Amino acid sequence: MIYNAPIKDMLFLVNEWIGLDRLSSLPGFEEVDADLLQAILEEAEKFCTTELLSINSDGDEHAATYSDGAVKTPPGFKQAYAHFIANGWTGIDSNPDHGGQGLPKLLQCLIDEMLSATNLSFKLYSELSHGAYHLLNDAASDDIRERYLPKMVEGVWSGTMCLTEPHCGTDLGLLTTSATPVDDGSYKISGSKIFITSGDHDLTENILHLVIARIDGAPEGTKGISLFLVPKILVNDDGSLGEANAVHTASIEHKMGIRASATCALNFDGAVGHLIGEENRGLAAMFKMMNVERLTVGIQGLGLAEIAYQNALNYALERYQSKAPSPRPDDSKPADPIIYQPDVKRQLLTIRSQVEGARALVVYAELHVDIMEKSTDESAIADAENTVALLTPVVKAFLTDLGLSSTLSAQQIYGGHGYIREHGMEQLVRDCRITQIYEGTNEVQALDLVSRKLTGETGEFANRFLRDWQSFLEGHASDEDLAGYIGPAASALHRLLQATGWIRDRIGAEDAAVRGAATQYLRLFALTIVACLWAQIIVGIRSKDGPFYEVKRKVALFYMQQVLPDTVSLLKTIVGGEDALAEFEVADFS
Ligand SMILES: Cc1cc2nc3c(=O)[nH]c(=O)nc-3n(C[C@H](O)[C@H](O)[C@H](O)COP(=O)(O)OP(=O)(O)OC[C@H]3O[C@@H](n4cnc5c(N)ncnc54)[C@H](O)[C@@H]3O)c2cc1C
Repeated sequence: MIYNAPIKDMLFLVNEWIGLDRLSSLPGFEEVDADLLQAILEEAEKFCTTELLSINSDGDEHAATYSDGAVKTPPGFKQAYAHFIANGWTGIDSNPDHGGQGLPKLLQCLIDEMLSATNLSFKLYSELSHGAYHLLNDAASDDIRERYLPKMVEGVWSGTMCLTEPHCGTDLGLLTTSATPVDDGSYKISGSKIFITSGDHDLTENILHLVIARIDGAPEGTKGISLFLVPKILVNDDGSLGEANAVHTASIEHKMGIRASATCALNFDGAVGHLIGEENRGLAAMFKMMNVERLTVGIQGLGLAEIAYQNALNYALERYQSKAPSPRPDDSKPADPIIYQPDVKRQLLTIRSQVEGARALVVYAELHVDIMEKSTDESAIADAENTVALLTPVVKAFLTDLGLSSTLSAQQIYGGHGYIREHGMEQLVRDCRITQIYEGTNEVQALDLVSRKLTGETGEFANRFLRDWQSFLEGHASDEDLAGYIGPAASALHRLLQATGWIRDRIGAEDAAVRGAATQYLRLFALTIVACLWAQIIVGIRSKDGPFYEVKRKVALFYMQQVLPDTVSLLKTIVGGEDALAEFEVADFS
């Protein structure tokens, strides 16, 4: 399997498209310049290709294992993790007060793409830690921050997110894990959590579980959920490790993919927990972590799509089958590389045009995460918060759907060889599948978009957001040389506005119709916004020559002509498909 990190595209998007000054003008990022970004990205690529890609298929083969109550990671993982933390990769965007490097989240997300591409299972051991760190940094007391966070940044302690229980997944209000107050101010946590990523492993000295539970007597449903820090090993006042806490690993799951990642069932048997934030406000705090995670899970899909594309492209250049349509590249040969088959080219470009557009969407969203966290301008912060809130479900669902469609399509390009394990393509498909499910299934993301993000303050912002894109496209409508890009994007935006009006007219009054259209609406939204980003990129490079820019224009044109037309049928299903769905009763299935 090969992987070359798309550093050129990443640097283009940051330096030329959004403009590096939008990052470096934020307080704390004054030192961030093009050379620094490039140097860090190149180091990350080196680490990912030499240390992580090389153990990815072995990790799949051997998987994480469980015996006598403890979990072992596959061969090579411990050594790679030791190098990972020694090189400082766990502290890129963490607070310098805790030993972090204080660099932009935008940079972290570009590194996340590489880590996801080369070894998603390995990445998961630090991913939830990263989310847990940021949650504790936002919501924990000074004492907890000082005692726990430097070790997390160093990477010697890791973190988890413990929400799911056997009977409670999407609907967290059903949870039964309990928290009983103790005189010393701590709580005894009791209950079972399942599917906990990195819930146990042998890479770090301690594991800090962030657990949601209901304090005795708290209200039913989501209004009575509190958040607790429950260390695997108790931490003494001086920060040293004490006794084992009453957290027990019952088993690990045997999974379709990400087999080297330990997905654990954990029992909390009266374990010591520390309340984080206010009583009964735990879900709000946890959602902050989940929102960061949702963007990161979207990036997992992007990384897997990219590596699948690179390998399929390589294979298509080398695999000789069938004669190409004339003019053939070489008439003397009995067959040509399959890349000369227009349909193979189409499949590759379908991936590439969406991957490059999706990367722009990530860069756009993560820039706003940095603005939200670093800017001192109140109105810029409010806009950035709304941008991130609006785009989070879109990034999570669209990019993970893209991950699966792309890994499947890339596997298809390998023909039968894609089905054979040694090429690694089937592992990419299996590893990618979970990204559509965890961190809130993609259907739940779509519901979030139509029910929460189109209403209230974010809903008003969404109007402005779409109108701003409309003005941008109208401003370039008369540019004849851009017509192939601006025209299709403007038509798609018109469809999105129509669908948005249709949804808005029904929110509250016709809940079933809105929910029934949510997934299609999210896809229409994503395809359209990516088209707007592509159009903006093309406007930005209109006077630039050279192969990189020429190819960008061709890729964008393919997106406009071959991918974006899906918005026509999506609109039709949204505005014309409600009756068939409504009239079919649940009883009709029998
Ligand atoms: C490998 C792996 C790792 C995981 N890691 C973690 C972790 O670290 N921490 C953690 O807490 N959890 C974790 N999970 C759990 C994961 O987040 C849940 O599986 C997921 O949120 C879905 O919950 P569920 O499995 O209970 O499905 P359910 O909630 O039972 O949903 C079943 C189906 O119904 C659909 N559905 C449910 N409600 C609605 C609705 N309102 N509208 C439309 N469709 C709906 C869902 O989309 C889904 O298709 C992990 C799971 C796996 C498999």
